[in-house]
Amino acid sequence: MSETSELRLEAASRTDIGLVREQNEDAFGEASGPAGRLFVVADGMGGHAGGATASRLAVETIAQAFFDASGPLPVRLRAAVETANQRIHHQARRDASLAGMGTTAVALVIEGSRAWIANVGDSRAYRLRGRDFEQLTRDHSVVAELVRRGLLTAEQARVHPRRNEVLRSLGSWPDVDVDVDELDLVPGDVLLLCSDGLSGVVDDDAIAAFLTAESVADAAQALIEAAIGQGAPDNVTVQVVRVSDR
Ligand code: CA
Repeated sequence: MSETSELRLEAASRTDIGLVREQNEDAFGEASGPAGRLFVVADGMGGHAGGATASRLAVETIAQAFFDASGPLPVRLRAAVETANQRIHHQARRDASLAGMGTTAVALVIEGSRAWIANVGDSRAYRLRGRDFEQLTRDHSVVAELVRRGLLTAEQARVHPRRNEVLRSLGSWPDVDVDVDELDLVPGDVLLLCSDGLSGVVDDDAIAAFLTAESVADAAQALIEAAIGQGAPDNVTVQVVRVSDR
């Protein structure tokens, strides 16, 4: 890696149970190694201990499998998410109290001035570049499909009764289809990973505005508070990563 491609990263993560749920089934993690810096947000589902177990297993397994593997980075990232799927699926079948558990996962790996994002479910990655705020991931959800087919608007999707139904998740099936995308980074970019406890209740313009906060810690805290200000019907998790020159 050349010196010019080296970017400085500042990151802050926050999670909150919200105002309605009895437990926090979201999980997040951050890890670094020679192969780059990894961030993961997972949003578990499946009652009792299942949801929290699935999201924790996803975060742990993706980080471990990614840094243990060799080969091209996007291949390792995809394989790490597939390994997490198998591990969660296996646990769910082995332990009756965890039957039916599953989780979303969105993982970001940054190496030099390049980044890769892996996504399963409806947790999201966004990038703020100047005034351009862009959702980097495609939701694998019932309502996102309806929006893509022109049958719902984004605003209708936000309050739709099926808004929590995901079409892909880790753990539900023996195999999973993982989206992996590559993007470039420039100094000034701010990346956000979040669960739908944020993106489902705080609109994009507001999220983008909070990401311009003085520090990543302030931005993460402001996002959590914004979700709480909207009643926080779900667990809410955010990871904010700011890219700057070294
Ligand atoms: Ca959620």
